[in-house]
Amino acid sequence: PFEVLVVGGGPAGNAAAIYTIRKGFSTGIAAERFGGQVADTMGIENFISVPYTEGPKLVAQMQQHVGEYDIDLMDRAVAQQLIPAKEAGGMHEVKLSNGASLKARSLILTTGARWRQLGVPGEDEYRNKGVAYCPHCDGPLYKGKRVAVIGGGNSGVEAAIDLANIVGHVTLIEFDSQLRADQVLQDKLRSFGNVDVIVSAQTTEVTGDGAKVTGLTYTDCTSGEGKSVELDGVFVQIGLVPNTEWLKDSGVELSQHGEIVIDDKAATNLPGIFAAGDVTTVPYKQIVIAMGEGSKAGLSAFDYLIRTEPA
Ligand code: FAD
Repeated sequence: PFEVLVVGGGPAGNAAAIYTIRKGFSTGIAAERFGGQVADTMGIENFISVPYTEGPKLVAQMQQHVGEYDIDLMDRAVAQQLIPAKEAGGMHEVKLSNGASLKARSLILTTGARWRQLGVPGEDEYRNKGVAYCPHCDGPLYKGKRVAVIGGGNSGVEAAIDLANIVGHVTLIEFDSQLRADQVLQDKLRSFGNVDVIVSAQTTEVTGDGAKVTGLTYTDCTSGEGKSVELDGVFVQIGLVPNTEWLKDSGVELSQHGEIVIDDKAATNLPGIFAAGDVTTVPYKQIVIAMGEGSKAGLSAFDYLIRTEPA
């Protein structure tokens, strides 16, 4: 058993583990894939104090930092079920898909999130070559260029407003017959001269020249006609899905979007169980934020452990 078990090995989980081991608590990390979303990222230009790095390099550095300590890192460990302690100070249990079961007095849940994919041809092929999911991360790469944003909810319209300030031209594409974003955002969007909004449009393919994106095709759902737009980039904004399916019946409170509900000390509704990063209700999903939140969760676990007698 551990004093602290961190579930997830992305920026939030690694930060949490480094904080708790440095407090002298035995700490384990169980991660489906060490590095998390960072492992899928190319250029990173907003990791403050490091002007430019790349995902795989940052993952290697996180692994090196974790390796400086006696942290029990279990990679390819997929959590399937959480059984909370029956009494304060008791052991929480996490069951893994390989049949193993891990116990700890305190848990820090950092299983992250994943961008919902369009699922059309070209999306995978041109990921990081014009297909992007994060306007805060990749917007500046398209300065002066033509991009599309797919998705007319709040995140899509926010992304389109953000990008309209940076890029040459934005085409917002929505499947529904109207945008679903808040009216104030829609009004703001329509105040830009370099934005076109296309509704009732089902994206059918991201097209490219083999090396990078050159446009997309869609079906106009009103006329049934196939149409195309020339582009340098496509931002997919149809939802960020938290990795909380495994927590469904655990008693850990989830928001209506499936995110773990936490307070400003990263505590969940269950004593001794904390959460951090993209999997939580904390807004703005970014590496520096996940690391800050993970550190906060680590300190909260410390606070819990020194105040709670073992059951
Ligand atoms: P994640 O990084 O999602 O890590 C979650 C961890 O939990 C992983 O180890 C995963 O394998 C594990 N896990 C999931 N389910 C289970 C389970 N059931 N059992 C065990 N382990 C599990 N942010 C920036 O700040 N700058 C950027 O330039 C940037 N670019 C990005 C580019 C791309 C393509 C993507 C996808 C994201 C980008 N982001 C960027 C966002 C950033 O990567 C995330 O905000 C950050 O990684 C969140 O960290 P996290 O630790 O909360 O979650």
